This record gives sequence, C-alpha cells and structure tokens, in this order.
Amino acid sequence: MRTLASLPNLDGKRVIVRCDLNVPLDGTTITDDGRIVASVPTIKYLVERRAKVIVVSHLGRPEGAPDAKYSLEPAATRLGELLGQPVLFATDTVGADASGAVKALASGGVAVLENLRFNPGETSKDAEERKAFAEKLAAFADFFVSDGFGVVHRKQASVYELAQLLPSAAGLLIQKEVEVAHSLTTAPERPYAVVLGGSKVSDKLGVIDNLLPSVNKLLIGGGMVFTFLAAQGHKVGASLLEKDQIDTCVNYLKRAEELGVEVVLPTDIIVASKFGADAEVAITAADAIESSPFGATGLGLDIGPDSAKHFAEVIKASKTVFWNGPMGVFEIDKFAGGTRAVAQALTEVDGLSVVGGGDSAAAVRILGFKDEQFGHISTGGGASLEYLEGKSLPGLEVLND
Ligand code: ADP
Ligand code: MG
Repeated sequence: MRTLASLPNLDGKRVIVRCDLNVPLDGTTITDDGRIVASVPTIKYLVERRAKVIVVSHLGRPEGAPDAKYSLEPAATRLGELLGQPVLFATDTVGADASGAVKALASGGVAVLENLRFNPGETSKDAEERKAFAEKLAAFADFFVSDGFGVVHRKQASVYELAQLLPSAAGLLIQKEVEVAHSLTTAPERPYAVVLGGSKVSDKLGVIDNLLPSVNKLLIGGGMVFTFLAAQGHKVGASLLEKDQIDTCVNYLKRAEELGVEVVLPTDIIVASKFGADAEVAITAADAIESSPFGATGLGLDIGPDSAKHFAEVIKASKTVFWNGPMGVFEIDKFAGGTRAVAQALTEVDGLSVVGGGDSAAAVRILGFKDEQFGHISTGGGASLEYLEGKSLPGLEVLND
C-alpha cells in the first residue's frame, strides 16, 4: 500500500484528502467527534509540509442533492478547532464556491468542501458517472490522499475513481486501521479471543466464517446469542431469534469443536417483561429462559452477571482480543452490564485489544471509557468487518502498486 512517504515534496502543492467526517449530529451539534479527531493526524502531516489541503467527505445519506441537514459545516468548524487554525468552508463540492476556496488556499491552509453526496456522481452505480464526478474533484489537486477508512469497502467516486486519476497514497488513519486489521488476521498473539454480539447473527456470518479457523475462543453475547442457544435446542422466549440461521449456528458449533475452538456462550441471561427502561427484569439460566416469571413472553436483553464475569476472565487472559457488537441493549442502563464488563475487561488486556463496529464504539464512549484505554477503536464498522471477512476492499486495492 502506498503511504504518505511515497509522495514527493508537498510544499505549495494542492492535496485532496478523502476523510470520513460522517459524525452523528443533533441539529448542528456534533454528538461524537471521534471520526474528526481520527482525521486530524493526516491533515496535520500535510499542513506541516506546507501543502494546500482540500478535505472532502460525506455525511449521512443525502440523496445526491444538497440537503441542509447533512451539511459538513459543523464538522468543518470542529476540524478548525482541533487543528487550531482557520478552515475555509465551501458551500458546494465542485462548483464555483469550492473552486474559489481552493484558489484562495495558502500553503499550509485547509479548506473543507461541502458533502460529496450532494452530488449524484459520488455513489452512482454507473462507473462513467462516478468517473466524471471524480474528474471534477481531481481538477482541484495535484495529489490524492485516501484516509476515510469507513468507506474503503465502497466503490465510490472519491474513494475509488479519484485514486486512479491522481498520484495517490493512504493517509495515517487508513495505515493504522490496516495494520491493526492485519495483526488480527495474520499471526495474532495467542490466546486469541473474538467477542461477538450486536443484534443479528446474519450480520456477522462472514466474520465468523473467516475467523473461526484462527481464533482460540469465540465468545458470543448480544441478540445473536439466542440463535446459538436455539441451535443447542433451548427455548428462548420472545428474544431476538433468526430461525433461518439456526442450522448455520449448529454448523458453527460443530466446526468450532472440530477446530478446537472454545465457543463461550452465556450461562445466565437478563430477561425482561418487555422492551424498555421500565421493564421488569429477572435473571434466568441460559438454558431455561422460559422459566422466568414472564414465561414465553420474556425477552433476553443482556447476558447475566455470572456470564459477564466469566467473559471478562476469558478476555483478560487473552493476548489478542477483537470485540464487535454490544452484549446487550446497552442503550438502556439495566441492560448495559454485560457490555460494560466486556469493555472494562478489554481495557485490562495485556496485549492487543480492538473494538470494531459503530454501535460498539459508541457504547464504550457512552459508558464512560476513554479511547486511549483500548489498543484501537476502529472508525470503520462495515469496512473493518469486511476486512476481517477476508474480502478485498476496492478503496484499499486501488492504493496498492
Ligand atoms: P455494531 O454496530 O457494533 O456492529 P450491531 O449493529 O451489530 O453492533 O448491534 C448493535 C445493537 O444490538 C445495539 O443497538 C443493541 O441494542 C442491540 N442488541 C444487543 N443485544 C441485544 C439483545 N439481546 N436483544 C436485542 N438487541 C440487542
Ligand atoms: Mg451497528
């Protein structure tokens, strides 16, 4: 992969940088600036080398036309604060305002162009349309730096076509993300534990398929656990269950046994009378969920305290841990215990601990953990999962020689 070191002297040169500034907004207030913070090192690197830095990104899913609620202006303002220097903001992406902003840039200056997805060419299915849009972006710059790890699994104009139109390299964030993902898939230090949760098994099939042969322990919690419990022949009440994946889970359990992988499932479950903060709760054995006072209507919304303790012990005894997917409905405090225990255990790993997935990253921050307590928190949910699934990512392929 071509890195920043492969670019020549950047003094006075125009560099267009694809970042992922797709932050959650409440109106115009940024509720988690993690992705902007993660974009800063590459931008600083370019500023320090006196480049003229043109930052592009998407935000949300506008439908190929300007939509004020998806403006990147709040992100541009926050970027300026983090960089400690003024940042020009262009109110369009490839129009007159953008063109003016690029011309006005001094060496070491930074401009942010408006949301890429205000233009239909960015995400078009038609390669020619994407290329036409990428050509307009390319006209602004001498070099391209790709640093939006969250989008490298997408064949989009600013990710894929643009990289072919200008001399291009990966930024520091992509480099870091790829290094971490590489160490999770190539000769990880052992014991190696993978902790999976979240809502659906069907979202994580690829990861289980690809990682099963290389892990020592597979810990499963979250909504997907009930399909595994059903695969073992247990009733799960009204908990999340993907009936069409039961056979797949039966196969995973069988394959794990053949491969000598220990599958750690919860032994107790927090069952709720209904979905909500005011639900009544009970703790049941994982193999007797319907024995709770709520019978067949009980909903398993978190792993139980014994399981949380056991999961934490297994995690802390590992040298490499990858965690994706909350253990329970952490958004409601009474169902956050399992997720909290797993997050805490990851911070105590003597080795590499990695958190992947949008909701998992949000969960650790909401629960009060600091990014620095983990080996790495991935900025790319879909992208990191696809990397771990062993898929080829177009936005990375295009940066290879
Ligand atoms: P990530 O974004 O980290 O990959 P997912 O999107 O797969 O994670 O899953 C996150 C969601 O899973 C959270 O909103 C959480 O509330 C939900 N979840 C976790 N455990 C359960 C459960 N037992 N029942 C229903 N939903 C659950
Ligand atoms: Mg998610």
